[in-house]
Amino acid sequence: MDSKVLSHLQDNNTQPQTLDFLSQPLQMYVDGQWINAHSNERITAYDPCFNAEITTFPSASSIDLDKAICAARRTFDSKEWRDMLPLQRETLMHKLAGLVEQHADTLAQIEALDAGKAIAGCRDVDIAGSVDVLRYFAGWPSKIEGAVRPVSIPGEHVAMTVKEPVGVVGAIVPWNWPFNMMIWKFAAAIAAGCTLVLKPAQQTSLSAIYFAKLVEQAGFPAGAFNLITGKGSVIGNEMVSHPLISKVSFTGSTEIGKQVGAMASQNLAHVTLELGGKSPMVVFEDADIERVVAATQQSVFFNSGQVCSAGSRMYVQRKIYEEVIEAISSKTQAMKIGLSLDDSTDMGPVISTSQYANIIDYISIGQREGARLVSGGQTVGDDGFFIQPTVFADCNNTMRIVREEIFGPVLAIQPFDTEEEAIQLANDNEYGLAASVFSSDTSRAWRCVKQIKAGTVWINTHDMVDPCLPFGGFKNSGLGKDLGPEQLEQFLQTKTVWLEV
Ligand code: NAP
Ligand code: MG
Repeated sequence: MDSKVLSHLQDNNTQPQTLDFLSQPLQMYVDGQWINAHSNERITAYDPCFNAEITTFPSASSIDLDKAICAARRTFDSKEWRDMLPLQRETLMHKLAGLVEQHADTLAQIEALDAGKAIAGCRDVDIAGSVDVLRYFAGWPSKIEGAVRPVSIPGEHVAMTVKEPVGVVGAIVPWNWPFNMMIWKFAAAIAAGCTLVLKPAQQTSLSAIYFAKLVEQAGFPAGAFNLITGKGSVIGNEMVSHPLISKVSFTGSTEIGKQVGAMASQNLAHVTLELGGKSPMVVFEDADIERVVAATQQSVFFNSGQVCSAGSRMYVQRKIYEEVIEAISSKTQAMKIGLSLDDSTDMGPVISTSQYANIIDYISIGQREGARLVSGGQTVGDDGFFIQPTVFADCNNTMRIVREEIFGPVLAIQPFDTEEEAIQLANDNEYGLAASVFSSDTSRAWRCVKQIKAGTVWINTHDMVDPCLPFGGFKNSGLGKDLGPEQLEQFLQTKTVWLEV
């Protein structure tokens, strides 16, 4: 571990468990065993606050991946897994939720360090939200139902549908919500009775390794959850096209998601794709401006803007245009940019050199395109990947900073005059993950909800998520849903059964 990382940990009341975990040689969890990569190759985990080494972990090859998928399949077909009673599965999941809750501080510290997430949000949103998701799905196994249907064939028949788990799930998650996205996949898949092999992003694999220890401690059968750490470019294609994978659940970029979807469909595997976004916020002149400002804090400036549903393009009705710009930029100027483990930090660094360079590039593109830089726009400090929250005004829909997903703390604002124009501008984008409308006129807000093409539309808020509500995009933002009964359904298949009496 680099000395700067050690000081980062020691100066911020880090728990002994966190240091203990980070000083162990980290391994993958396959078939109930802790293993190194067959090739012995390893990947370095970095602290984005200093671009300095934390530790290393295995870089899997196809041999390791195949072992994990075969183990998941064996467990799926085993009597032990198949005959587990629904309430037993619920108990196991609740036990795991309790363990995650008990270890929440350690998990938040590991995640904040590895991903550069501000610790307060990491604890209250990433980890606490994950416990909620585990508890929500823990309630499902005993409530999965088929139906008895009144067939019209002469004679005595009982005809029904039975819901069965699809099989082995291959799950791939990104680096912006590493723990959270992993739990979204894990909880629904296990509740449905599937087994899974999960690959975290290579920039953020540490919290997944810690989680696997909790899965082991909770007493899940070997092979039910298998953690493979490694590079998507090396094992990703193979994972999603492996013949024993029945369902691919992917969260990541639209570019890779489209490739994943195409490959998985070669085996007719079920696929869910949760992809990129460029979500509009539409602000009418009768909006509560304080709510608009609060919404930008919880979306485009939360997690340094690395939020798939970030409200990163804003349309403001002309009468309150300058007032909204002023309110948002003065709030962003008061944000504290700092070390991820410091409790008073509002915004930590972005994840990596390439992400940092990308965002800086977009900020200069915005200036070249003629947008007005209202606040931010600079990097912060010499170490790590810190960027000021940045607000551009006087944008238009032809600009790249309005059309493309920047995935950083950059907001592009522009004015509009009429409701019709606002809806046209909001829909004029390849993505359709989410949107929000701010108005005190509920009839108007409802008209907008019906016309905006997005998987989630919030009114007078942005980026609220709950385990009982499905989350997923329209258009180039994806296919299928995570969370809610809709997600569970995607891990099930329907069998029709006839009984001639
Ligand atoms: P990414 O580059 O697509 O990577 C996502 C995951 O895919 C990583 O685990 C990556 O592994 C893996 N991967 C890379 N190449 C692969 C391949 N050929 N086959 C299979 N898997 C492969 O995305 P990212 O940059 O990590 O994440 C940011 C994106 O995720 C943004 O576009 C964001 O909007 C989206 N996102 C969407 C949601 C949602 O719910 N809609 C939520 C969060 C994020 P490596 O890390 O090893 O490269
Ligand atoms: Mg890292």
